[in-house]
Amino acid sequence: MTKTKNLLKHFRTSMHISWKASPWMFLSRILFELVSISIPILSSYIFKEIIDNLSYARDMDLFIRNIALFAILQFASMIYGRVSGHIAGVHSELVSRYIRLEIIEKINELDLSYFDIPDFYNEIQNASRDSKSLLSLTWTIVSIVKGIVQSIVCGIILAQMLWVFPFVILAMDIPGVMIARVLNRKKYDWQLRRTDQERRIGYYESVMQGRAFAKDVRIWDSKPFFMKKYLALWKDWFCEKNKIERERIGLTLISSTFPFLVNIMMLVYIGIEVIGGRLTIGDFTYYRSISSQYRSGLEMFLSTINDSYDSEMRLSHYADFLSWKSRVPDEGILEVNRINTVEFRNVSFSYPNTNREVLHNLSFRIDENEKLAVVGYNGAGKTTLIKLLLRLYDPVSGDILINGRNIKEYTLKSLRNNFSTVFQDYNRYELPVDETVALADTKNPIDKGRVIRACLNANLDVTKPEDYPKTTDTYLGKLFDKEGVILSGGQWQKVAIAQAYYKRGNFMIMDEPNASLDPKSEHIMFEKLKELSQDRSGLIVTHRLSSVFMADRILVINSGHKEAIGTHTELMQQCEIYRNLFNMQAEHYRKESRI
Ligand code: ADP
Repeated sequence: MTKTKNLLKHFRTSMHISWKASPWMFLSRILFELVSISIPILSSYIFKEIIDNLSYARDMDLFIRNIALFAILQFASMIYGRVSGHIAGVHSELVSRYIRLEIIEKINELDLSYFDIPDFYNEIQNASRDSKSLLSLTWTIVSIVKGIVQSIVCGIILAQMLWVFPFVILAMDIPGVMIARVLNRKKYDWQLRRTDQERRIGYYESVMQGRAFAKDVRIWDSKPFFMKKYLALWKDWFCEKNKIERERIGLTLISSTFPFLVNIMMLVYIGIEVIGGRLTIGDFTYYRSISSQYRSGLEMFLSTINDSYDSEMRLSHYADFLSWKSRVPDEGILEVNRINTVEFRNVSFSYPNTNREVLHNLSFRIDENEKLAVVGYNGAGKTTLIKLLLRLYDPVSGDILINGRNIKEYTLKSLRNNFSTVFQDYNRYELPVDETVALADTKNPIDKGRVIRACLNANLDVTKPEDYPKTTDTYLGKLFDKEGVILSGGQWQKVAIAQAYYKRGNFMIMDEPNASLDPKSEHIMFEKLKELSQDRSGLIVTHRLSSVFMADRILVINSGHKEAIGTHTELMQQCEIYRNLFNMQAEHYRKESRI
């Protein structure tokens, strides 16, 4: 009962999507499908007339008229088939695009924590595959109507010859339908099981083929290692697929034996009737053709009902995927145009699906136009703090206040608009310079002048044709353009900084912006950052303590706790961890300079 209810719900969704993807294509497709029932029945009838005329009357005029009619019908059916095939193809593409966009929208609506769950990736893959069922479900209705009409018309014609035939044929088709239903279920279960396997296979392939791993694969000669894993998984996948396929062939062979026997029996019966003079030779071809159309109508109808239950299983999954909710709800209504102050009040946080608290009861404040540096050992929770400020996650307890109001009161969009951010793990896009830099502000058209200025501020001169052959149009990478340039780690870091400058947010967040920079570039970067952020607040996470001098105060975090906050001089006096961190680095530089 619930299954049928769900099915009806999915039918509605399917119709809605098919309609929204293209109303015209949808309507014409239905019309074409329905009209196409009449063509083969009419053709069979005319063909019967031709055979009878040739066998008995042998009337030339009648023959020419019938053959002309037959030719017109065949030709019409040829054109019809191609046009309707084309419409169906275009419409299917539009519907799949609609669904793909829906999946992308959903993924982007969810918070980052989902990306830490392997099942999330399995579900994306399942949803992309299963969403195709939405497409077939719409046509299921058309096929059911078409199948019913076709089998009723042909059934009546057959019953006129011998009333029991349509019923016997129907009865013989039923085992096949039931077997198909069991096979569909098995196939679906297997598809769900294999998703994880297929994702792994895809991953190993990408390691062996992609640029990102090409260096490691060559230097460590790791291809045999990945190949072994790849082949082992592939073998399992292939064996199971083969097992299911063999089972399917065996069972369908058994189930199709019954209709086959009925078909032969019917031919024998009609043949006897023709020999006995009760039917004509034309009748022989006519009933034979009508019986096969009757069977195809029944099959269309019965197997489509089967398929629709299969679609229902898949679409329940897809509907579950679409119903996932972000754990960072965008429920605020306030707009924020400038971030003056930031305050963390007793903030504690654990990553979703983990038990370990990464931040404990953290409180601090950034005043108007203040620059705060955050320092601490690896894994102390510095980047996590930034993620909370950007609302990529929400605290488990405590509050974050922006300009004195809870961060959740603002719309996510307006909140994030204010930040210019450089992450440690910035991305390397295979795009031209201008598109890469302007990604930070996609609301406005690309401003090349602004791109060049942002790059110069980041100490990167993209106007030099000897370094960037097509200046701002030069691709950063060689995946799509052989004139693309390969940047060093430090240059990429400068691109990431240029993105932050291009955005012109009023609050700077920099997570290790100097990690890959040489000392000279680092010095220039901090000088520029000081100059450009005079009238802005900001937060900078850094390992290199040389850079803390550009900050007004420094927050020291240790294992998620606030260890101390103050100026460099205060911390050198009061905070042992800070003193150790600073002295260790100073000692390191002194050693380096002695070498
Ligand atoms: P830092 O920036 O100070 O080096 P992070 O804030 O990146 O440290 O990480 C703090 C802790 O949180 C680390 O122990 C890290 O392993 C853990 N962590 C970071 N990201 C995740 C995540 N997505 N899921 C679970 N734990 C995470």
